Amino acid sequence: MTDAPPLFRLRGISRRFTTTGGVLALDGISLDIHHGEMIAITGASGSGKSTLMNILGCLDRPSGGQCLIDGHDTGAMGPDELAALRNRLFGFIFQRYNLLPDATAAENVELPALYAGAPARWRRTRAAELLARLGLGDRLHHRPSELSGGQQQRVSIARALVNDARVILADEPTGALDAASGEDVLRQLEELNRDGRTIIIVTHDPQVAARARRRIHIADGKVVADEVSSADLSSHPPSRPTTPTPDADPVAHHGHRRLDMFAAAARTALRSLRRDPFRTLLTLVGVMIGVASVIAMLAVGEGGREATLARLEKMGTNLLIVRPGAPGVRSAADLTSLTIDDVQAIRDIEGLTAVSPVRTLRTTLRAGAIDYVTTVHAAWPDIAVVRNWRAVAGGFISAEDVAEYRAVVVLGRTVARNLFPDTPDPTGRLLVIRNMPFQVIGILNTRGADQWGNDHDDLALIPLSAGFMRILGKPYLNSVMVKVDHAEGMTAAAADIDQLMMARHGIRNFQITDSAAAQQALSESQRSFAMLLGAVAAISLLVGGIGVMNIMLVGVTERTREIGIRMATGARRRDVLTQFNVEAVVVCGLGGIIGVALGTGAALILARNGFDVVIRPGPAVAAFGCAFLTGVIFGWLPARKAAGMDPVSALAAE
Ligand code: ADP
Ligand code: MG
Repeated sequence: MTDAPPLFRLRGISRRFTTTGGVLALDGISLDIHHGEMIAITGASGSGKSTLMNILGCLDRPSGGQCLIDGHDTGAMGPDELAALRNRLFGFIFQRYNLLPDATAAENVELPALYAGAPARWRRTRAAELLARLGLGDRLHHRPSELSGGQQQRVSIARALVNDARVILADEPTGALDAASGEDVLRQLEELNRDGRTIIIVTHDPQVAARARRRIHIADGKVVADEVSSADLSSHPPSRPTTPTPDADPVAHHGHRRLDMFAAAARTALRSLRRDPFRTLLTLVGVMIGVASVIAMLAVGEGGREATLARLEKMGTNLLIVRPGAPGVRSAADLTSLTIDDVQAIRDIEGLTAVSPVRTLRTTLRAGAIDYVTTVHAAWPDIAVVRNWRAVAGGFISAEDVAEYRAVVVLGRTVARNLFPDTPDPTGRLLVIRNMPFQVIGILNTRGADQWGNDHDDLALIPLSAGFMRILGKPYLNSVMVKVDHAEGMTAAAADIDQLMMARHGIRNFQITDSAAAQQALSESQRSFAMLLGAVAAISLLVGGIGVMNIMLVGVTERTREIGIRMATGARRRDVLTQFNVEAVVVCGLGGIIGVALGTGAALILARNGFDVVIRPGPAVAAFGCAFLTGVIFGWLPARKAAGMDPVSALAAE
């Protein structure tokens, strides 16, 4: 033998299980195992063989004693270092094969290479190569359930070799196989031993044990015999270093470990989603509904807001309206408090574009034999500026019309059509308001109807002077409409008017409304509506997230064995954590995408049914982002549960 330390040096190893009343499974095991040996560990059932094997393979830690691997104390190694040893140094072969049931033969073989960080192409070639060498070249894409026991065990041998493991740990590798398949597996193991690999077989079968050069017999957790076949006493096969040969070293090709891990996890997630569509639907439905409702509600909310803004715009922007009557009080005396003198005074205030008094009257207009009831607005020519009115046929009311008390009228489109059905342009014709004749001088530009069906073309406009003189009686006003030069000047203008009016009236028997303030109030109410929507969305996503978490927690329990297999093949805690986090994100992301589609669809249906709807990408992106985040947050607990599992007990799970 060389001076190099033995592969394993065990000194006084004990293992006590505290779970079931304290079983001492291993009781002071001391032995050396050298590179290149072929060893059988034998003993009765329950004697501690598997426990010893698990400690050798760094799946389990001893309760006492020391285990050195190549001279390094495993007691001083952290979980990630042990995972690396399992990944690079050891290949495990189990009685029950322990293949991932949903993965193909090739994917199962690739698994340790994935955890070693080998690039995808290298993994694929290597897995195909190994499987072909083991006579499974035509079974690459079969799942374990589509393979015989012997074939499955050969897949697990290929898996053990993918990272070129120097040590093969086989726990009852032939226990579940028929004689021929068992013989096949043993021959493979012998060949691997000839290749220089260390083979350790746990078996209760003396015939299997006879194939090994060295047999260690265990009873009640103690080594009772350690014998070497006399024919083989001479020498071991040449001992080889534990570092993998360069051509087979996946880390030599080290690539995009993290990305590959994400991709593999996403593939696993989609696969498990496909396996049980009903459960998938139940998992997704919360997130889906959450996202869909946010998008639909925001589309309707935004639609309503835009419709209201458009209506305000139609009324005119930068608009201040002075009305008689104290705010909230409506006494008859107050309603007559606004006069033409007030308007003249207001007109002298700086920064105003146009000022017009307005008096309205609901009355009947008559042309020939036709009567038509409409609202007559009596105002100054400035009303055109304030309300964006203009004449499209004939002319508008002029300053002269006002000065000369002319009995002229400009008709809204609807009034013109009703009173003069025989002509498209009744300019110059006469009509009668309250027994006084007025001449039509123009037609107002069409303004259309709003969403409630109010017809903005159903009105007539006359000069205020003629109105007061002929049909309106007492000279008070319904309102004074003021257009301010700049939006920034609104507050100052309102304050100036307020001060002036207070000075003139001595009491607050008037009120000033600000279209900007109305818009602001509107946008404030929109904001609180949006916050309400946000709360509803947050709650529904919370509920959805809890649903996802719940089902994933169940899934982690169901997949305990899978987690054990992953850990045995070299997955670190972080890898298991990543796996389940990615799965949660994939589930929620998928729910988010379906939710976006559903929500947009709902909004489109609402739009078709007469709702004001505005569909913007913003809310869709935000809602999808929230779904994604839900996955990150609510996947955390299941992922932690999975990553915290103990490899041995996970492998033992049903
Ligand atoms: P075998 O030689 O059949 O492989 P094991 O090593 O599996 O025996 O078990 C040795 C002893 O330790 C048995 O008595 C078994 O019941 C006990 N044991 C094994 N694993 C556990 C465990 N996880 N918890 C409690 N007891 C265990
Ligand atoms: Mg056992």
